[in-house]
Amino acid sequence: MTAGESMGDREGPDWWPLAEPFKIKVVERLRRTTREERAELIRRAGYNLFNLRSSDVYIDLLTDSGTSAMSDTQWAALMVGDEAYAGSRSFYRLKEAVEEVMGFPYVIPTHQGRAAENVLFTTLVKEGHIVPNNMHFDTTKAHVEHRGARALDLAGEWAYDPVADLPFKGDIDLELLDRALAEHGEAVPFVMITVTCNSGGGQPVSMANIRGAAEICRRRGVPLFLDAARFAENAYFIKLREPGYADVSIRDIVREMFSYADGCTVSGKKDALVNIGGFIALRDGDLYRRATVWAVLFEGFPTYGGLAGRDMEAMARGLEEVVDEDYLAYRIEQVAYLGRRLKEAGVPIIEPVGGHAVYLDALRFLPDLPREEFPGQALAVELYVEGGVRGVEIGTVLAGRDPETGENRYPRLEMVRLALPRRVYTCRHLDVVAETCQRVLDRRGEVVGLEFEEEPPVLRHFTARFRRVPRSAVGET
Ligand SMILES: *Cc1c(COP(=O)(O)O)cnc(C)c1O
Repeated sequence: MTAGESMGDREGPDWWPLAEPFKIKVVERLRRTTREERAELIRRAGYNLFNLRSSDVYIDLLTDSGTSAMSDTQWAALMVGDEAYAGSRSFYRLKEAVEEVMGFPYVIPTHQGRAAENVLFTTLVKEGHIVPNNMHFDTTKAHVEHRGARALDLAGEWAYDPVADLPFKGDIDLELLDRALAEHGEAVPFVMITVTCNSGGGQPVSMANIRGAAEICRRRGVPLFLDAARFAENAYFIKLREPGYADVSIRDIVREMFSYADGCTVSGKKDALVNIGGFIALRDGDLYRRATVWAVLFEGFPTYGGLAGRDMEAMARGLEEVVDEDYLAYRIEQVAYLGRRLKEAGVPIIEPVGGHAVYLDALRFLPDLPREEFPGQALAVELYVEGGVRGVEIGTVLAGRDPETGENRYPRLEMVRLALPRRVYTCRHLDVVAETCQRVLDRRGEVVGLEFEEEPPVLRHFTARFRRVPRSAVGET
């Protein structure tokens, strides 16, 4: 940051400079590459950023999942991990942390979030069921469908409007929820709310909305679960934006959020600040006992569930560190800071900025590229060539083809997601990201589109190879 400017100075007697609330004890060297090297590296990678080696990336914003920097106390915790097969001390540490932070007495550790979904959904979801959610995350949807059930997204219209400037765009539509429960009755095993709403850009869900959904669920006799990967980031938005919560502590907000739920699934790779891990937390002992049967089959004995004792130990500390208000202020403000820098540079982004990523609007960024030439992917490639920055396309490449017609599906938005790993990059790194975007914007007329060289039949974005469309071809087809 330059002098006189910080991520979020607050005026008045509470003024507090929101710089990183930590100092750096261990560093990881970043290799600098030249533009020529990067142009060659991305060409050899088939213009697909997933094919790059991380050592060839300068600032890696591919995902915030499993990429957090652990604290000194988390690293120290690894050493005291108890690797007992049954009854590990580290399991009890995790159980206590979950009960303290979230208020749930029963915990099943799993190796990551989707494994928690697998265990819980195998216990509760049957063929023909319908599972409502504000917006299912990919693996959550896949696990519902794997059980022969239907995943129903019930976020309101507002969640799909890229420019609607609303405080809680992740809210589930309570009217639609009530109607769905009335209509499908017994076929709904539970309702789920994802906090923050990942597939909706990390947008938060309000306390009033969670409370309202819980009331509807209780009236209809249906359990409510939270998909709580980013529960602490959600809590910070509630403190910041929801009337009545400015003076409530994050711990109390988190406790209230979970008080409305019967349990949750958690990917520890996000707000639990670890590189691998997850868990299910539950209020009901009977459901816990039913779920442990599947946990043993899929993950491991219920007191380790696919994790080493040291992993549970580190996750327990992560849960306590993530509800620290200084950390959350830094975290949410850092994402907002990148958003502000980009806006100042005239870079089109999706607003408001969510909790873990900034999304570039590729259609406004590269208005001259036809959608058949994948402007989102082309933009992600240019950011790498320009500054060694790796983001990810969230657009046509990701959306795949319609299985019936075989045609490309063109989603409403063509985006590049810049996801921020937790506690990893400084604001100066983010300045470089903003400068990189600005430099590409300044020469956007030169950016060329892409076409497939190799297109895998499923999940094509991970392994596809592209080539650049020759400039002369543009406009001729
Ligand atoms: C990441 C994530 C998952 C899946 O967790 P993994 O640890 O990647 O298996 C589920 N739901 C949400 C909202 C997520 O962000």
